[in-house]
Amino acid sequence: MSALKIGILGAGIGGLTAAIALHRAGHDVVVYEQSKQFLRVGADINLTPNAVRALDGLGIGEAVRHTAARPTHRISRSWDSGEETSRLEMGDTAEKKYGAPQLTIHRADLLAVLAEIFPAERVRFAKRAEAITQDGSGITLKFTDGSTDRVDVLIGGDGIHSAVRTAMFGAESPRFTGVVAFRAVIPAASVAAVPNLQAFTKWWGPNPESQIVTFPLNRGKDIFIFATTAQESWHLESWTTPGSVQELRDSYAEFHGDARALLDACDEVLKTALYERDPLPCWSKGNMTLLGDASHPMMPFMAQGAGMAIEDAVVLARCLAQVKTLDAIAAALQGYERLRLERTSKIQLGSRGNNWLRDGGNADWVYGYDAWAVPLDAGQEMKQEAGAV
Ligand SMILES: Cc1cc2nc3c(=O)[nH]c(=O)nc-3n(C[C@H](O)[C@H](O)[C@H](O)COP(=O)(O)OP(=O)(O)OC[C@H]3O[C@@H](n4cnc5c(N)ncnc54)[C@H](O)[C@@H]3O)c2cc1C
Repeated sequence: MSALKIGILGAGIGGLTAAIALHRAGHDVVVYEQSKQFLRVGADINLTPNAVRALDGLGIGEAVRHTAARPTHRISRSWDSGEETSRLEMGDTAEKKYGAPQLTIHRADLLAVLAEIFPAERVRFAKRAEAITQDGSGITLKFTDGSTDRVDVLIGGDGIHSAVRTAMFGAESPRFTGVVAFRAVIPAASVAAVPNLQAFTKWWGPNPESQIVTFPLNRGKDIFIFATTAQESWHLESWTTPGSVQELRDSYAEFHGDARALLDACDEVLKTALYERDPLPCWSKGNMTLLGDASHPMMPFMAQGAGMAIEDAVVLARCLAQVKTLDAIAAALQGYERLRLERTSKIQLGSRGNNWLRDGGNADWVYGYDAWAVPLDAGQEMKQEAGAV
């Protein structure tokens, strides 16, 4: 046997990044996606230097830079006084320090870059998996259109409601956090008087649930606004449901004038409830594993959801790159999980805590991670240490 047949459920950011890396490693990769096509849904994705470096290693960083914006700083401001409580230089300084800049990009533009590189005939659209079973020699997927397929390895890149996760660990719903998020995009020219528009700015609110984050989109021509607030009564999880602009403004009516000026410029807004899960103690079983939101869905407060999915994809592909026989798959997936679990759990919990870089602090452990350089044998060493305890 020379190449493994690898199925990836979900053509999201994590699934497609893994598909590209595993295809390049010589495996026979097929991606199954429930949507009929790639849709221009969602808005801005924040790619911190750790994520950009992972994409650079795949050779797609230039294409991503083409439509992305490049925030100049990461600034924290206090909701009422507007006082700056921390300022981190990004841009060239981050590039020098971490080997890559921070980029912010529309999710659809990032997906388009990934889809352009991965062979189109290997993405099967309108394939929603409804049953997944594993036996001694592989995994069978059954789709809602009645078709089936069989693979040697199955990777769940199928997001927060992952069917692969359910197949491994049973059904368990994500938890509503009691927090809702508003998303809006405004032209930068409409708020030109607000300072630091090309920075990633976080307005820390009067309680941990309340915050407004703004950053540039579309090479800086637009500004993305992401605001959260506690609200127990709204449970709808959606990337497309409109919210009320008046409710958005009312929710932050006591915020500093600069923040209110941004909200005053909004013509429309989307609203969604935020859900999350606890870190898993493990996320592989036999020849199945998870990545991205399927394994560690997190609150958006460290802006690492996409970054963790991309890092997972690179480390997973490196772990599977040398595997040529069926009996070596499970160990490679265990190695991947050991390499990733501690970091993603820490970021999942840190995102829930919502304190990251509030008053400064060292971002190196997040931004300085290099998914292409993490020694793969560290996964093996961790296994031995765990065995020795
Ligand atoms: C439509 C959409 C819009 C988003 N917009 C934003 C945004 O604007 N900003 C932001 O920060 N984050 C956004 N996110 C979330 C963000 O993409 C993720 O948090 C992060 O990038 C991790 O990505 P992922 O690849 O693990 O999962 P996801 O991005 O959630 O991708 C999962 C993929 O799996 C597919 N899928 C799910 N179940 C099945 C199934 N049973 N069978 C087949 N396919 C399945 C989904 O259709 C999706 O394409 C969005 C997610 C989605 C799905």
